Amino acid sequence: MSIIIKTKEEIEKLREGGKRLATILAEVATRVHSGVSAMELEEYTQARIKEMGDTPAFLGYKPAGHRTAYPAALIVSVNNVVVHGIPTPKIILKEGDVVSLDLGIKHEELFTDHAITVPVGAVTKERAKLINVTREALAVALEAIVPGARVGDIGHAVESFAKKQGKYGVVKALAGHGVGRAIHEDPYIPNYGRKGTGELLVPGMVVAIEPMLTLGSDEVVEGSDGYTMKTEDGSCAAHFEHTVLITETGYEILTKT
Ligand code: MG
Repeated sequence: MSIIIKTKEEIEKLREGGKRLATILAEVATRVHSGVSAMELEEYTQARIKEMGDTPAFLGYKPAGHRTAYPAALIVSVNNVVVHGIPTPKIILKEGDVVSLDLGIKHEELFTDHAITVPVGAVTKERAKLINVTREALAVALEAIVPGARVGDIGHAVESFAKKQGKYGVVKALAGHGVGRAIHEDPYIPNYGRKGTGELLVPGMVVAIEPMLTLGSDEVVEGSDGYTMKTEDGSCAAHFEHTVLITETGYEILTKT
């Protein structure tokens, strides 16, 4: 376990990268409509990253234990897909769907990571609430980042908040992480935990916090493409993620426009 404290210069670049990333993802979100394919969103994303002179972080990335590299820039995870959905022309969005868009970019050699979940047109009340509760779970997780906080405080905040809101599954097999010089760095930041446990969060650390909630089971299964992670029971899932800098007084969101 080695946690990297970023330099002032690196933080400046991460701030700019985070702003660019949030701008692109917000633009992609406005293109989510019934009848649009996941591949169209992918093509738009790649074009915008290129225009900005940056590099997609996930395209060609081969996580430990995977035999093939991830084939796209964008992750498009629809309904029962929790994360790591590969965009293809066959995935056509339809009214009522819940779509998680997850994107990482490399700006001047430094990585940021960001995800949002959006509805396609009108969705059921239950699905709308899932999206809201997951978005709020991220906000609550960030509020737990105060001077002296530890990794376990973040997980505890996510899980206890989600349980108070209703019968939501809190996905445990996937987690947040350090980010910056690589797309995945230490520490590992689960969405469950005990207060006061785990690594101390210190100024200069940069972390990606990413709660994943479902309307059913918290268990996930891997799809046949080796990437797609689906809920075991087929229930709908949502996912929000910010890259944040740990500061003297708390945190600063880097993935904001
Ligand atoms: Mg991430």
